[in-house]
Amino acid sequence: MERTLSIIKPDGVQRNLVGTIVGRFESEGFRIAGMKRLWLSKKEAEAFYAMHKDRPFFDSLTSYMSSGPVVVMVLEGPNAIQRNRDIMGDTNPAQAAEGTIRKEYGLDVEKNTVHGSDKPETAAKEIAFFFSELELMR
Ligand code: UDP
Repeated sequence: MERTLSIIKPDGVQRNLVGTIVGRFESEGFRIAGMKRLWLSKKEAEAFYAMHKDRPFFDSLTSYMSSGPVVVMVLEGPNAIQRNRDIMGDTNPAQAAEGTIRKEYGLDVEKNTVHGSDKPETAAKEIAFFFSELELMR
């Protein structure tokens, strides 16, 4: 059993895709171990994406991520991190495989509708950024 952090980014929330995307995760067999809607400040978005602080897209990305509400959730299931990455598709929606969330709904390489942790250490950090253990109890 594994946990991963998923975010429905501002472009997804704004286009009323929350139910569609959560439904997709449920139909893929994930348990939604925690979920909330929130609006990140620019500083919070910068803290969340701190690993990208030297990348040229950092300022634009963190402005976008703080431009409207997001829905953050913890997906739980076998091999959850990689399975979620597979369901999301490539970072760039134009290169994402058919049937992936980003292919279907992503607008561009920045506004790509969903975030998913990329490895176990990142998942643990990202989950702790948004949720306490108490909130994730069965
Ligand atoms: N991003 C961007 N421009 C790029 C690459 C990435 O705006 O050239 C944004 C995009 O929203 C992406 C996020 O930065 O989801 C994090 O990038 P990463 O390379 O970690 O991609 P991911 O793991 O989200 O597929």
